[in-house]
Amino acid sequence: MMKQKLIVGLKALLHLIYPQQCLYCQWDLLHQEEILCTHCRLRLPKVTFFPHHPSLKNIFFGRCEWQFGILFLRMEKSGIVKSLLHDIKYRNHPELGTYLGKLWAMDCLRKMGSVPWDCIVPVPLHPKKQRKRGYNQCTTIANGMSVILGIPVIENVLIRQEAGMSQTFQSRWGRNNKTSNPFAVQNEQLLCGKRILVLDDVVTTGATLVYCYSALKEIQGVQLSISAMAIPVHNRIVV
Ligand SMILES: [Zn+2]
Repeated sequence: MMKQKLIVGLKALLHLIYPQQCLYCQWDLLHQEEILCTHCRLRLPKVTFFPHHPSLKNIFFGRCEWQFGILFLRMEKSGIVKSLLHDIKYRNHPELGTYLGKLWAMDCLRKMGSVPWDCIVPVPLHPKKQRKRGYNQCTTIANGMSVILGIPVIENVLIRQEAGMSQTFQSRWGRNNKTSNPFAVQNEQLLCGKRILVLDDVVTTGATLVYCYSALKEIQGVQLSISAMAIPVHNRIVV
């Protein structure tokens, strides 16, 4: 009896020191749960899985020719997906990105059977933002996928150029300049001939992914696929 009371007391104390609560609903997590409680995990609003998602086909029609295009979550104006993405980006929860990346990859693997990519390239954050935030939210998601899919995350090829003199100069002397792509590639040999999954956190107009696609397609022999963890569903029909 004493022993049991002691264990209960110790557990309560541990909980005080390390409170483990669902990031969304704040309910206490059970022993085997992590980050989200089972209730919240099960009610994540997922899109229907397609290896060539029709919404991505619509967004990118005539703009780029990707191999696979995948999505994971539907994002309403408010609600769980909006809130979780906010946690990843602004409330210092990179572990949530990794957790969601794992869930996404498990879904993908179940539906696709095998992995049609050699590596994941997350969309780089603007260097200033990355310094401020300390991490890139797309990389946290890619890291989670990488664990499940067994393919590496490659971050030192696609880079986001720091806005500086060149852009000021450029906007003054003409915006149609080819160099207006904020993304560029370096160490190209690392991605030569690879099947690449380009990953963004949210896709809206698709502009960011198109820029990444144009920069990466210059690398010899690459096959590009695109992905976004969430797609806003207001003003848009998403299956
Ligand atoms: Zn919860």
